[in-house]
Amino acid sequence: MENNLKMVPAKCTQCGGVVEVDEAKKTAECPFCGMTFVIEDAVKDYNVSFNVNDAVKDVLDFAGEQMKENRQRRQEEKKEFESTQKNFFKVFLIIFAISCAFSLIMFVIMQFVPGAGDDTGETTATETADSTIDCYIKDGCLYTEVRGVNLAVWKYQAFDSMGITLQYEENSIDRDSYESCVTAEENVDEGVRYVVTAAYEDDFTTESTDPLYYSVVRVVIENSEIVEASEPAIVNSLSEYDFE
Ligand SMILES: [Zn+2]
Repeated sequence: MENNLKMVPAKCTQCGGVVEVDEAKKTAECPFCGMTFVIEDAVKDYNVSFNVNDAVKDVLDFAGEQMKENRQRRQEEKKEFESTQKNFFKVFLIIFAISCAFSLIMFVIMQFVPGAGDDTGETTATETADSTIDCYIKDGCLYTEVRGVNLAVWKYQAFDSMGITLQYEENSIDRDSYESCVTAEENVDEGVRYVVTAAYEDDFTTESTDPLYYSVVRVVIENSEIVEASEPAIVNSLSEYDFE
């Protein structure tokens, strides 16, 4: 009989201590508190307590897993949101940089490209009665058109950067219309300043031999562009007609 003893775990009904008992017997004595208890009750108590513990453990484990997963998911979502925020900020920075660069380029173009953003460079100098002086650059040529009632005079001067005269021409013509062209390709060089002065005689008393006055304009050309155009000046003699 001793060899066939079947020992099973049980729980003392008095103190709860876990003991091994012989299932074949009716009662046993607890080694912890000395209480004599019914084995059947003690075994049932052990199983119930064991199963409950197991179940609670399972539930707790499951809950723990869920919480862990939730935490991971929340962290991933947070990372994703932060990454989206960073990307949005990057895109914004890039767009802002491109806008700035474009504005700067446009500003530079407006500053340095001849003719951009301002007028065509043409200037109508003066107009009195039937007489006009008209200076403009067209297709690389400077045109000085003087249409005078009587005498028309024009001077063409070129200066280097030190102000030394490189070229000087003076013409006068007595006719209704006069037109001249200074060819930019041939004559306009880097660092050379060209000054064209043109005048017409205003003489409304046709019997008079001496003109009453002259209307004079001056145009300054640098790098094929009109950079300065004077308001028409009235002079009494052509000796006053020197702008330099
Ligand atoms: Zn006990």
